[in-house]
Parts: sequence; C-alpha cells; structure tokens
Amino acid sequence: MNAIAEILRETIGEDDFNPKALKEKYLIERDKRLREDANDQYIEVTGDYSNYVDDPYVDVAERAPLFDEVECVIIGGGFGGLIMGGRLREAGFEDIRVIEQGGDFGGTWYWNRYPGAMCDVESYCYMPMLEELNYIPKHKYSYAPEIMEYAQNIARHYNLYNNSLLQTTVTAMEWAESVEKWIIETNRGDRMHARYVTLANGPLSRPKLPGITGINSFKGHTFHTSRWDYAYTGGNSEGNLDQLTDKAVGIIGTGATAVQCIPHLGAAAKQLYVFQRTPSSVDVRNNCETDPAWAESLRPGWQERRTSNFNILVSGGDQEEDLVSDGWTDIFRNLTGVAAKTASRRLGRRLTAKEKELLLEIADYKKMNSIRARAESIVNDPAVAEKLKPWYRQFCKRPCFHDEYLPTFNRPNVELVDSNGRGVERLTENGVVVNGNEYPVDCLIFATGFEVGTTYTRRAGFDIVGRSGQVLSQKWKQGLRTLHGLQTHGFPNCFFLGFTQSAVTVNVPQSLNEQARHVTYILSQVRARGKTTVEATIEGEAGWVSEMTSKAKMGEQFRAECTPGYYNNEGKTGNPNGFFSFAYGAGPLRFFEILKEWRLGGELDGCDIR
Ligand code: NDP
Repeated sequence: MNAIAEILRETIGEDDFNPKALKEKYLIERDKRLREDANDQYIEVTGDYSNYVDDPYVDVAERAPLFDEVECVIIGGGFGGLIMGGRLREAGFEDIRVIEQGGDFGGTWYWNRYPGAMCDVESYCYMPMLEELNYIPKHKYSYAPEIMEYAQNIARHYNLYNNSLLQTTVTAMEWAESVEKWIIETNRGDRMHARYVTLANGPLSRPKLPGITGINSFKGHTFHTSRWDYAYTGGNSEGNLDQLTDKAVGIIGTGATAVQCIPHLGAAAKQLYVFQRTPSSVDVRNNCETDPAWAESLRPGWQERRTSNFNILVSGGDQEEDLVSDGWTDIFRNLTGVAAKTASRRLGRRLTAKEKELLLEIADYKKMNSIRARAESIVNDPAVAEKLKPWYRQFCKRPCFHDEYLPTFNRPNVELVDSNGRGVERLTENGVVVNGNEYPVDCLIFATGFEVGTTYTRRAGFDIVGRSGQVLSQKWKQGLRTLHGLQTHGFPNCFFLGFTQSAVTVNVPQSLNEQARHVTYILSQVRARGKTTVEATIEGEAGWVSEMTSKAKMGEQFRAECTPGYYNNEGKTGNPNGFFSFAYGAGPLRFFEILKEWRLGGELDGCDIR
C-alpha cells in the first residue's frame, strides 16, 4: 500500500506533511472536546430563557381567532414553505394557507438579521425559483436583506400572503377521523380544519443556549444572534453598530454565524472578546457583483442546469464543467473527481474503495493545511494565528468562507479568548470566565447555534396526533420512520419537508424544491384519481427505513473521528435524532433519482390512496 500511497500523495501534490502525525493531532484535539453530556450541554429556550426567542423585529398585531377550513396548510414560511406553496399553486391548488411564527415570510432569513449575515452558497443556485420570478441576485453571494426580500417576493408572486397567518405558532395538530381532516390549533386561538398539511418548519430553527454555570447570573445585556438587538447595538445588517463604541462586548461561539458578525463587532465595539472553543475553517470568500452581460446571456432552464451541476460536483460526482467554481466545488473537485481520475490513470486501473478513502484523506489534509496557512498569513500575532487553526477534517464542521474575519484579530480592540477546547467556564454578574480569568463585558452575544439532535416534535414545538390517537413523538421515539422522508404511516395527508430521512444537500433549497415537487405530484395524483386521502403504508415505510438503514454506515467512521459538533451529535454516536440519521446515506444524487423513478412508475408505490 505504501507505494500506492506515494502515488496518491504525488497526485494530490502534497509532499510536505506527515498524515500519521496529523491524524494523531486531530484525535488529540477531538478528545479535548468530547464530553459525556454531548447534546445535553445545551439549554432549551423555554421558561426562563424564552425571551431569547421573542421576535425583536415587529410588535404583535392583535387579530381575532379563525375557525375555518382550508385545503392545504403549510406550516413554516421559509424557503421550504414558499417553494411548497409555489409548486402547489402551479399545480392548480387554490386554497392554501401558510402559518408562520415570524412577522413575515423568510424563515431563517427573517430571523437571522445579524450584521454581515449572508449566504455562503452561490446565490444563483441558492435562491430558488429565480427563473419563475425573473430575478437575478445582485451578488455571487447574497446578503441577508436581499434574500429576505426575495423570499417575500416569492410569497407575493404566488399570492401566498392572501389567507396566510403570520405571527402565529401552531400549538396542536390532530387527525379527525370522522371528517378525514386535520384540526390545527394555534397560539392565537385559531382552530381550523385542513385536508392536507405540509410541515416546513426548518432543520435549524430553534436557537440553543449553552448550559454554562451562572448563565442567569450575568447582569449585562444578552441576546442570541438569531434575534439581533439593533435597539441596543445600533446599526443594521450592514454593520455600523454605533452604540457599541463605548461598550465591552463578548461573543460566545465561532461557527458560521459568528464568522460573519465578528468583523462588524470588531469594527464597532470599544473592546471585543471572542470566546472560542473550536476554531472554524475559514477559506477565501471572493464575493463579486453579478455581471450584467453574464445575466443577459442566460438561457431558459439555466438555474436548473447550474443547480444540478453544483449539486453533482459537491456530491462527489463528475461534470465536464464547473459552472459555480467556488470554494465548495473546489473542495470536492480536489477531494474526489480530478485527483481520483489522475491517480487511476497513473496506476493503470480503477482505485479500490480503500485507495479512494486514502486519497480523500490526503486531499483533505492538503486542504486543511492551506486553511491553517491562511490563518498564519493573515493574522499578525503568531500565537493568535495558531489558536485560529482548525485541527479536524474539512467536513467535520461546516466550512466557512470570509475575507474579513481573520483580519479582525489584528485589531487592537479585539481579543481572542481561546478555551483550549473546554468552552466558557462560567458566567458571573459582570462577565465571562475562561481559563480562570474573568472578562467583564457590558453585552454578551450567544452565537451558539440551533437545536440539532433533539426530537423532531421538540424542535417543531408541538406534537402531532394521527390516526387512532397515535402520537408522533411516540412513533418516532426510537428514530424516524418515513416513506422517502416525506410521509409516515398513521398520519395521512401529512408531509414533512426538510431533513427527515431524505437528502442533505449543501444547497438546502434544492433539496426542498425536489421534495416540494414530489409532494405536489402526490397531491395532484390524489386529486386526479378523485380521492381525498393518501398515507404511507406500513410496507412502504418499512421499505424506506430498511433502505435508510442499509446506507446508514456511510460516513460513520469519518464522523466518529471528528471534533464534536452538530454534524456528529457532539461526538456521541447512536442518537436516533442525530443530524446524519436524518440523511440518506447514498447521498442527494441517488435520492433525487429514487424520487424521480418513483414518480415515473406512476403507481404511488407504498402509498394507500382512498
Ligand atoms: P454553530 O452550531 O455552527 O456554532 C455554535 C458555536 O458556539 C460553535 O463555535 C461552538 O463551539 C460554540 N459554543 C457552544 N457552546 C459553547 C460553550 N459552552 N463555550 C464556548 N463556545 C461554545 O452555529 P452557527 O449559528 O454558527 O451556525 C449554524 C448553522 O447555520 C451553520 O452550520 C450553517 O449550516 C448555518 N449558517 C449558514 C450560513 C450561510 O452562509 N448559508 C451562515 C451562518 C450559519 P464548538 O464548535 O466547540 O461546538
């Protein structure tokens, strides 16, 4: 194997490192961060903490409760709900109601308005239905306000505002056998009947807080990044946080969100402390405005072609051309496609699975070496640069791309407080304690992410009672059971969009689009056949659960060696609600094919239609 390993190393073009030593270093760094309480280290934002999820953007508008009936209810007005609404309208469904907790459409882009918020995935792929709306984003990577406005334009385009309930939270959902409809109740006292319900409540929508000792002792100002308090900081999504000029600010977390807002905090605050447990991998952003000549040159069907090209490349597939050509596709082109082809040419045969894995590992080390070298070349103080280096494989955590994050640590008013993997020790009345030192702050910002790995119904905020009184939380107690991630037996006319035994994609709206198309197809078939209910059969569901299980091992070893994070259940295997237990192991390309073949079959296999 050693001679082959040499060829693989030469193919990747990396000869100045020791893979064995790197692997050992990665495991040492992982072990520092492993903790027994894993997911339980986080606090649910209810009770004393519920103010962390209040909507800071609008006042509650009073309205009378509704008691009525709708054909299609969609829960969630983010991209999932919007695409679902749009596809249903296109298929001729008129009677649609979106129920959304926020004050407007937008989902994650409604809530996440923190300074610097933008999308890491190319806008021409990420923003769905661009051709339907005849819209071209302003930049290669869009900023949050444009994405939120665009989401609201989708709602207008498909007339989804009409009949929708904003600022409304579903509290209960129960199947009424006698009328074969769902009864939905909300926090506004509504009680409505619905024939079909689609849940599009988002995979990462509930903010989480770290269970730090003394979290309630801190007397200063606090908020979570997904509820940014501009009344306190001043400024807006573009920055200019002018009320922080006399403030000492602390931020806990250095994930994708923190990477985007820290440059603005660093530019404004009198003093900024960045409390770090694990550094992110931060690569080049290189954003640019959309070239009007390029936009002009686009021909019908362009978005589907581009999105599919991107998805194939970032799922490890091969494409003649890389249309997006950015940090994401660069990672995968190097990790898989080109390198594997070159190596197999040199060996005169196809690579074995083991050789492919080795190639991947070497390419990964190379990529991460370049990320670490980037920190070193940008950050002036070598000791600080060292602490900003990520020691894990590229997809252990979500890769970040930013050009101003690392330079922020060259500012004299910004201090990186690295906890050497242990995290914040405790909070006091005045501030934050790390490594035994207290850092007094006026304001503490939690950039600590969102619930992943807790049960579906806990994250949804309500349970669902299906046929014969069966409760969803009970049914899914030992893990999800679905047909294609979209339906579950005993819960007729109910569909789940998102990551519930379907495909996890880099470009999330693409997966939502495929799912919405599929649900729309099913409902159109039910209608065309003059029926009114559709439900996954026990056999249909069992078939998909077995397919999920047979592919579940993919990536398990990789994740077990990763530093903890939500991708690997905070380092604990076996959580039936873990992020990747929701994901089809054979990947999105195969998943989309399966859905397509199923539709082409035309038999609605595994569904009972009445
Ligand atoms: P993450 O879950 O990625 O990050 C949470 C951060 O909080 C981590 O750095 C974590 O450290 C830290 N943390 C948690 N507890 C403690 C503690 N006790 N002490 C110190 N630090 C602590 O949340 P984000 O909001 O950053 O991102 C969530 C997801 O949202 C991303 O993965 C991405 O999918 C999405 N996102 C997408 C963007 C886009 O461009 N499309 C932009 C922003 C977010 P540790 O790593 O050690 O756990």
